[in-house]
Parts: sequence; structure tokens; C-alpha cells
Amino acid sequence: MQQFEAPPLLRSYSCERWNRVPLHPSRIEFTGSYNFKVLFEETPKISKSMPWTFSTKLMKLFCSINAAVPIQFHFGAAVPRGAYVRALLVGHDDNVIIKTCPKHVEELKQNGAVTHPYHMMQCSSRSHALYGICSETGKYSLRFPILPFQAGVAYQSETFSFACYSSCLRREIDAIFTLELNGEVFGRQSFNVRVCACPGRDRLNLERKRKKSFQRVTSSDSDGNRKKRLTDSKIESQKIESKSQKTWVLAVSTHQRYKALKKISKALDVFDGGDGDLICGEATRSRVEGGWSLTVKDKKKNDRDKE
Ligand SMILES: [Zn+2]
Repeated sequence: MQQFEAPPLLRSYSCERWNRVPLHPSRIEFTGSYNFKVLFEETPKISKSMPWTFSTKLMKLFCSINAAVPIQFHFGAAVPRGAYVRALLVGHDDNVIIKTCPKHVEELKQNGAVTHPYHMMQCSSRSHALYGICSETGKYSLRFPILPFQAGVAYQSETFSFACYSSCLRREIDAIFTLELNGEVFGRQSFNVRVCACPGRDRLNLERKRKKSFQRVTSSDSDGNRKKRLTDSKIESQKIESKSQKTWVLAVSTHQRYKALKKISKALDVFDGGDGDLICGEATRSRVEGGWSLTVKDKKKNDRDKE
């Protein structure tokens, strides 16, 4: 839907207010009443040398250092005057502050290409992107206003780049985009980011590894022998189901989603008369390549079989 409201004067907000970022920012995605979505262009063919590519299977962006990555911001309804999008990078597992490493800060300073070299995520729209550091948590974020859409375009596109390799930071990185107004969040989307030398190659390798890891689901058959079972593999909604195994595995891409699903499953266990300590009998966590899986055993079925 087209946006008709004129963009606000961003600098009218106090720095303290808009720079504020939680110590442990949520990754729980919601589109909210404005149907806020963050999308990437499809890349029909994946080549080794492509500057960036986004895997919806892994919910992960692969890109070269300082490559221009266009990201689309969609809104299903006209957003209020003064709304803006905040972009934030944090450590995937530990929520640590993400900033450019000293080596790349020096490089950025020397070539003078950017105004905020300590911000690892850069927005090319210099005219309206604002950079800030939260005085409480020290986290680096940037924001940009929601502008009237261009003629014939149903979304706002902004170009981002990343000034460090993931290996500089020695950890996985999450990018979190929030639709905000006066510091209040009205929508949130997030994805994992990997900055590397060969985005296409790394994407294919990781998708292949992920597929293999879910194909190797071992289980005991009726004779107690171990057997391997091939399954279809789709991240985000994958379910490996077998009545004979009495085990279900749900694969998700982030630890946050894993924890949310674990809570839901615990609540269901309590609802079913369990103690909530275990998920319908047993729950295990396994760290697979870039993702998490929740294994749920059917306690009722096990009990029935024992009778
Ligand atoms: Zn670096």
C-alpha cells in the first residue's frame, strides 16, 4: 500500500530516546498492525562470486565485505507520521555489542568512505540514515525514516553493507529490524548474517550440511537395531514424523525460536497433566549447522506400548 504521509524531521527526536536498545533484544518476529516485512530479492541462480545471497531455508544473509545489499521494507498499511525503522546487529548466542574491528575501522577511516566507521552495518542512504549508540547498553544501531514510496513501487528499498568479516568477530551475527515510533516497537523481523569471501559457495555448503544433518535421524526399530531414515528437509517448519519412532523433531533456525517452542511445549505438558519439567516425556536440544532442533518424544505412546 502506498504511503502518503510525508516523512518527519528525524532530528526532532532526542538522541537518548531513539538510541535506546535493550540489553537482550528480542528476535521474536511479528508483522504487527502495519504488516511490516523485511524481504530480499530472489536470486534465481547461485554463483560462487555473487556479492550477496539470502537463504530463506536458513533465514541467513550471506554477503561479501562492504558489498551493497538491497533490502526491501514492506508495509501493509500507511504508517503513522514519525515512524522509522531501526537496524541493529547483535551476537547470535550472546547478544554482545557488534562493532567494526580495529583493523577495518582503520581501513574505513583511511578511505573516508563512511562517516561512522565503528558501525559494522552501514546504510548507503547518507542523507537520511542516522547512527547512534545506546548510552545504557553500548549497542550500535542506525535508523532511517519511512519515505513515500516511489511511483510504481510497493515497498521502500535501502542498501546496506557490512564492514567486517564474520570471522573478525568470531561469532554468528543477528540483524534485527524494528518498525518503531517514539521508541515503541510496532513490528520486528530478524535474520542471521554471515560476511564471508564466497557468499554463494558458503550458502550452498551450509544448506547442504543442514539437509544432511536432518536426513540422518537415527532411531531404534522394533529389534533395537539402529537405522537411518531419510526425510524431507525444510527448515522453519520441518517435522520428521514416524509413529514407530514415537519421536518428532522440529527444526528452527534460531535459538530464540527454539526457546519459545520449548516454553510452549512445556505448557502443553502441564495442560496434559504432566509436571512441565519435560516436554511430553523428553526433550533434547541439538545444535546443528546454524540451527536448532527440538526433539519431542510421545510419552503417552511409550506408556501404552509398555502396557
Ligand atoms: Zn573486521
